Amino acid sequence: MSAVVIHAAHDLRVEPHDAPDPGPGEVRIRVERGGICGSDLHYYHAGGFGAVRVREPMVLGHEAAGTVEAVGPGVTHVAPGDAVAVNPSLPCGTCAQCQAGRPIHCLDMRFLGSAMRMPHIQGAFRARFTCEAARAVKLPPGLSVETAAFAEPLSVCLHAASQAGPLLGARVLVTGSGPIGVLCCAVARLGGAREIVVTDLVAPPLATARAMGADRTHALGEQPDSLAPYAEGKGHFDVAFEASGSGAALVGALGVLRPGGTLVQVGVGGDAAIPLSAVVAREARIVGTFRFHAEFAHAVEVLASGRLDPAPLLTEVVPAAEAVRAFDLASDRKRAMKVQLAF
Ligand code: ZN
Repeated sequence: MSAVVIHAAHDLRVEPHDAPDPGPGEVRIRVERGGICGSDLHYYHAGGFGAVRVREPMVLGHEAAGTVEAVGPGVTHVAPGDAVAVNPSLPCGTCAQCQAGRPIHCLDMRFLGSAMRMPHIQGAFRARFTCEAARAVKLPPGLSVETAAFAEPLSVCLHAASQAGPLLGARVLVTGSGPIGVLCCAVARLGGAREIVVTDLVAPPLATARAMGADRTHALGEQPDSLAPYAEGKGHFDVAFEASGSGAALVGALGVLRPGGTLVQVGVGGDAAIPLSAVVAREARIVGTFRFHAEFAHAVEVLASGRLDPAPLLTEVVPAAEAVRAFDLASDRKRAMKVQLAF
């Protein structure tokens, strides 16, 4: 049984990995699909991001789905043979933030494939995964594991939308046409947005944004001034989702937000110089969004309903044995949107 393990930047290995029989309150999942996320790529290329560094070998992956193979004593909500999505988030339920109703900000969060704490929380890119039963969310009939592996990034975008407020009738800008930006676009469509504009530096990913509901797209690397018309008359957009993590994109989005509009910062990057005069004069609201909680189960339902089909995002399903090729492909924004590993 194999696992995809990051040892250091550019040192990604497919290694043998044990999956013990599940103990009380645990399940063993046969993982079938694992989506490669931007943070997995940060570990691969740079050994981490910001202050978060890989300090010991870590199984990557937090977008996974598969089939329950065995359950431990006391587990009743899933049974062997059930198809499940793996919820990577597991707040403790007892810390001060959890007790205050903010489980996203749990002080003892055990998020899969994350080097934020030591020892690291080993991730889900492994053929067999024994884990806390609470992570296994049963799939409704008819929902494939391939589609269910999109539940995690979709959860991020559903939470981002909740930070934005009502989208019905809203004019929405999305900056950054990676998987998260494109799913924010699809969520805005689901939420009843009146108009959705998506930008990126390069053109190829914007085709996926159009397939997922964007009315118009702009490749700013080719036509840097194409947002200028939206700046007229004190701005155009009610809501902006900044999904690139770029300071330049944040400043550009602020410049086309209508007075009182909301900018949701979804992307993570370095520091940005924010023009305070634009925030003040526009009475702009800038709000962060971090991961998700209740949205995971919601995302599974949305995917099962067929009202949001992530299929246009799926570039290729690559056997886990070829993980390095899969990670290189996922890193090429001209060729890839979402790459999944098959175990
Ligand atoms: Zn907690």
